[in-house]
Amino acid sequence: MEVAIIGGGIAGLSLAKFLAEEGIPFILFEEHKDFFRKACGEGVMQNTLGYDFYDFYSGRGIERETEGVYIHTKYGKNFMRLPIIMLNKQEVEKELARKAEKQGEIRMGERVNRIVNGILYPQQIKPKIIVGADGAFSIVRDYIGIKKPKMGFAVATYSKNIDMDNAYCHVFIKDDIVKYGYAWYFPKKDKWNIGIGSFKKKYFKEAFLKFKYKSEKWKGAYIPIDKPIKSYGKNAILLGDSACHVISAVGAGIMPSMIIAKIASEFIKKFLEGKVKIKEYENLWKKEKKYLKLSYYLTTFLFGIVKSEFLRHKIIRRITKFYA
Ligand SMILES: Cc1cc2nc3c(=O)[nH]c(=O)nc-3n(C[C@H](O)[C@H](O)[C@H](O)COP(=O)(O)OP(=O)(O)OC[C@H]3O[C@@H](n4cnc5c(N)ncnc54)[C@H](O)[C@@H]3O)c2cc1C
Repeated sequence: MEVAIIGGGIAGLSLAKFLAEEGIPFILFEEHKDFFRKACGEGVMQNTLGYDFYDFYSGRGIERETEGVYIHTKYGKNFMRLPIIMLNKQEVEKELARKAEKQGEIRMGERVNRIVNGILYPQQIKPKIIVGADGAFSIVRDYIGIKKPKMGFAVATYSKNIDMDNAYCHVFIKDDIVKYGYAWYFPKKDKWNIGIGSFKKKYFKEAFLKFKYKSEKWKGAYIPIDKPIKSYGKNAILLGDSACHVISAVGAGIMPSMIIAKIASEFIKKFLEGKVKIKEYENLWKKEKKYLKLSYYLTTFLFGIVKSEFLRHKIIRRITKFYA
């Protein structure tokens, strides 16, 4: 087998679909028996850095297309005309898998426990290239020998009892709700995806204790909030949360995962043809890396350096004016 993908989240499945389109066979291992087990807000910007994956969501993947986002602060609300597509993430992942399976093999409920000298165990497979799309606690990253990125923590749930305008997404950046993070209310077809997260885990617990009465059932997960880390080594590359492909300022990893999956599929094709070396992977997405880095610096500035909520409100107002 030439390509082994570890992880069947949005990153691994997007890559699988792109590889299938290139006619490159692969094997994908997902430790769970079904898709979308993790918490997520399920919102995506329609367009990021000129990429638009609208066709990925077609059919049952889209629940609602909102007109923009209201950012509520202690000093008022700011409107950003940035249409957010609300997904049914499970449907999107299932559809990606259906499309990818035409060219490759997807093994659900099968975990890769360890990798030694390029061999996956217990499968005992030695692929030409290993892709670590195995999330925040990636074993492929450990195999390459790369330190894990800084992480935040967030929880999400569904609720029907939200009295807000469902033509928009709503984000609350208020220290009395959560420090160094935000709470969200994203409208789906007939319910809301709501959640709260902090870029620093130490602030999360206290905030969640006040917020948790809104539902009885929460799902939580770590989100890498850092600059993209080194993402190649030995015969492996990283993709998605494993490599911190996340727009830190909003904790959004779906679009970056899909964008870099597209670039990774082109890289893998050339790698298998012997035209590029593993270390050239990151050269192909310099523009995207710069964008993710900038977003990280904005996060540390807005939530870390700026302590005054009034000043933060003013800065957010400036930023949202670009999208008015
Ligand atoms: C509460 C919350 C809300 C969020 N909201 C948004 C949002 O609204 N919009 C947005 O864009 N992003 C959001 N994100 C971030 C986004 O969900 C992630 O960045 C994105 O899902 C990352 O995808 P991934 O495929 O890299 O990782 P994952 O989704 O974590 O997928 C990794 C997969 O690998 C599997 N796996 C791991 N190890 C192994 C192994 N050894 N063998 C086999 N399988 C393995 C796991 O079971 C998992 O399915 C949110 C995150 C959280 C936690």
